[in-house]
Amino acid sequence: MFIKTLELKDYRNYENLSMDFSQGVNILYGDNAQGKTNILESLYMCGTTKSHRNSKDREIIKFEKEESHIRIILENKGISHKIDIHLKKNKAKGVAIDGIPIKKSSELLGIVNYVFFSPEDLGIIKNGPSERRRFLDMELCQLDKVYFYHLSNYHKIINQRNNLLKQISFNRKLLDTISVWDDQLVFHGIKVMEGRENFIRTLNPIVDSIHSNLSGKKESLTIHYEPNTDKNSFEETIKKFLERDIALKSTGTGPHRDDISFLNGTIDIRKFGSQGQQRTAALSLKLAEIEVVKRITKNQPILLLDDVLSELDRKRQNYLLNSIHDIQTIITCTGLEEMVQNRVQCDRIFKVTEGTVTSIN
Ligand code: ATP
Ligand code: MG
Repeated sequence: MFIKTLELKDYRNYENLSMDFSQGVNILYGDNAQGKTNILESLYMCGTTKSHRNSKDREIIKFEKEESHIRIILENKGISHKIDIHLKKNKAKGVAIDGIPIKKSSELLGIVNYVFFSPEDLGIIKNGPSERRRFLDMELCQLDKVYFYHLSNYHKIINQRNNLLKQISFNRKLLDTISVWDDQLVFHGIKVMEGRENFIRTLNPIVDSIHSNLSGKKESLTIHYEPNTDKNSFEETIKKFLERDIALKSTGTGPHRDDISFLNGTIDIRKFGSQGQQRTAALSLKLAEIEVVKRITKNQPILLLDDVLSELDRKRQNYLLNSIHDIQTIITCTGLEEMVQNRVQCDRIFKVTEGTVTSIN
């Protein structure tokens, strides 16, 4: 799977952009705030319809414009596809695959698959649980339409239930209606938990083997799923804590509060790992993600590396760059030093300057 071309119109700081990518390693370099990450974001949107930065559509549209367009042409197993995204300021976005509009964003999933790696991912181990859930959800939603469906429904129901909890605190008569939401919450919530459980099970042997190599066979790494509630007793727990939820006007139980821990032997490196250990584990996790996507989709994902190399030492840079030789990779960086030092075979190099991209080879 690889992207052949990208076209942008009025997207962030790009007025008009048209560029061709190589099937191998593509470098986008330039000073800060020139538009490198914006390009990766636009590519990612064509896989998920969403920004990896969680930006709203109206924030993405070029300042003072009403609409944005993104178009990519990609090749997947010898077949070319065109994906168009049309963002509008106060309306829902339009998405089309090969010129045919789609109704649900889930129809896009599987056509193009990304592994996105940014410096924030290096903090995945030590930062809060919401980032670790985001790690699980970003990849799982791309890989599994059913998971995407259950997670979207689960989030919608949580919002509706929380609104109802607020109203109940003023009007107790509404209490009878909550069981309708709770049945659905439990149904979708259990599916979300099962999806996460299975994903972690698949990820574990791969992450352990990568981590062992990265740490010079000194360390092991096991991901441990920490569901906020046991799926078999979710229904019971949600009932048991109803009064607490009403008092707090928020749902305190369920997979929206899940976490994952990372163990080196029996040591929880979230709490006891050194910064270096935590970063190595984060890198292992990302590299394992590539392998899992390959196995599940029987296809190569596209790797988007946003300014991550400068955050790694030489040894880890080298390991990362050596593991990507067979997949299309798009790397952003402020300079080309890391590429030169690591003797990276750069198939295409682009200079990004104030919303313009110039190919220099
Ligand atoms: P860094 O090296 O610091 O990560 P970058 O090259 O990745 O920088 P981007 O995040 O891609 O930079 O782009 C940032 C630029 O895009 C900023 O100059 C910002 O003002 C501009 N920008 C962001 N949103 C919009 C928008 N909606 N319309 C116009 N310009 C925008
Ligand atoms: Mg950037």
